[in-house]
Amino acid sequence: MSKISLEEYLSLTSMSSYDKESIEKIILYNKSLVRKYKFLKLDNDDYMSTWADMLPTGWRLKFGESLFKELKEVIKRDKLKDYKIVEIKEKFGVLRLYSFGGNEDTEAVAKKYEDVSQYVCQICGKPAEVVTLNWIGFYCKDCARKYFEEDDYGEIE
Ligand SMILES: [Zn+2]
Repeated sequence: MSKISLEEYLSLTSMSSYDKESIEKIILYNKSLVRKYKFLKLDNDDYMSTWADMLPTGWRLKFGESLFKELKEVIKRDKLKDYKIVEIKEKFGVLRLYSFGGNEDTEAVAKKYEDVSQYVCQICGKPAEVVTLNWIGFYCKDCARKYFEEDDYGEIE
């Protein structure tokens, strides 16, 4: 079985149920991702998901790989063998990455992408143009039109 692309992986994992072949593809994808970025492994051993899956789709598509790559470079360079991700989530429209065993430079990488995230549509990865008003989220106009009521968002100032 050959490795699938990130886009194929995301479409597979968005299904509500999986067949045996999809499960094998998901596991294969995640094992290879964890081989490359050890810190993305969750505490369980089933490889049905990784920390990368906690990133909203648009962010993962747009900057997931560069975020992981930059973290890995610091971890390798500074020999941070205990580095662990504790939580990845979206809070007030921006990325939050909490970790353990890092240093100033891993923090700086996380901070950089926290800043980047507010300019990227969470749903599709295109540049964010609007902000939702009742809760804070940054989206492109196409996704906002598709998923929200017109009164629910406004242009980013
Ligand atoms: Zn979008």
